[in-house]
Amino acid sequence: MPLFAQDDIAARPAARKALSRIQARHEADLAKQVEIAEIPAPTFHEGERARFLEREFRRLGLKNVEIDAKGNVLGWRPGSTDKALVVAAHLDISFAPGVVTKVRKEGARWHGPGLADDSRGLAALLSIADALDHAGISTKRSLLFVANTGEEGLGDLMGVKYLFRESPHRSKLEAFISIDGADPARVTNAGTGVKRYRVTFRGPGGHSWGNFGRPSPSHAMGRAIAKLADIDVPAKPKTTYNVGRVGGGTAVNAIAEESWMEVDLRSESPSELDRIEVKLLEAARTAAEEENRKREASGAKVAMEAKLVGNRPAGETPATSPLVKSAIWAAKATGHTPELRVGSTDSNLPISLGIPAVTLGGGGRADNAHSLDEWFEPADAWKGPQTVLLTILAFDEN
Ligand SMILES: [Zn+2]
Repeated sequence: MPLFAQDDIAARPAARKALSRIQARHEADLAKQVEIAEIPAPTFHEGERARFLEREFRRLGLKNVEIDAKGNVLGWRPGSTDKALVVAAHLDISFAPGVVTKVRKEGARWHGPGLADDSRGLAALLSIADALDHAGISTKRSLLFVANTGEEGLGDLMGVKYLFRESPHRSKLEAFISIDGADPARVTNAGTGVKRYRVTFRGPGGHSWGNFGRPSPSHAMGRAIAKLADIDVPAKPKTTYNVGRVGGGTAVNAIAEESWMEVDLRSESPSELDRIEVKLLEAARTAAEEENRKREASGAKVAMEAKLVGNRPAGETPATSPLVKSAIWAAKATGHTPELRVGSTDSNLPISLGIPAVTLGGGGRADNAHSLDEWFEPADAWKGPQTVLLTILAFDEN
């Protein structure tokens, strides 16, 4: 078979049946998405939502359903070979425990933290498994459906890291599709590199009046932030830094004993990411030295510790690879103008291991992910799972 006889794929009766099924189940899938979104699943606290997906996987007849050592939910749809294509969506939301996950509807727009990111992806995952079954489609590759943990924030891709690096299935995993975000026109085939640091400054503390003259971890950290904020980074390859969280100290009239900040560094280029990382560490070290020099007379010192708490490698699945070509064709087949994107998603991890991976939208329109104003508009949302399903079928021809 030629690399792509795609139009033939979409025209096959079984494929048409699967696509119609997805469209017909639009309302049911939307209800499922809301049901999932209302089960809180902050990173490291995905258990309840995982058990829900486990029951759904079983209900859909997936085989060997399990929750693995890192909390990922796995379910198989065996093909004629052992080699597997992983289709995944992430369980976790980027909110702290205690967040209210109740979904509310205002006109055409639905609101809820994590409603799109990534409850839409999880609902799409279920919709695809259902449609393949309904249409009686068999594939050459086995399909491993995964609802994974630890995509957001300090989860540091924990779920997919375990799946691809350590799990007993790892040698079978040939390619990866993550369903994340909404827009089915977007094919994310390149990963932004991300490094995250927790930088802590520690000192002797003391009374703000009585012990004035001692070095202060907060003042040292202020110096570090000022230095970082002055660094110029290239617009292309896009490179960024952000001090996202700061904390420390115990009272307004006490010299802090400890101050900390969490810093997020990103770049499309691995070498630029290394460069900004070196600059952050230099800024933090120099800041501590300057604070100590300024307060030398006290004989006390602050110490700086920088701990790498997140590391997502940059990389790319070439646009010419069968997986990316399949995704581009599928997006066109469902009426979209596909665009290749760079992002920071679960796909970064398999890409870094040389495994072809793309991240595709789950359908609908969405914005304000990671904020309490996150919203989702479900018009035409069935085109998300349809596009992913066609990507699976087209890729399976290779
Ligand atoms: Zn996401």
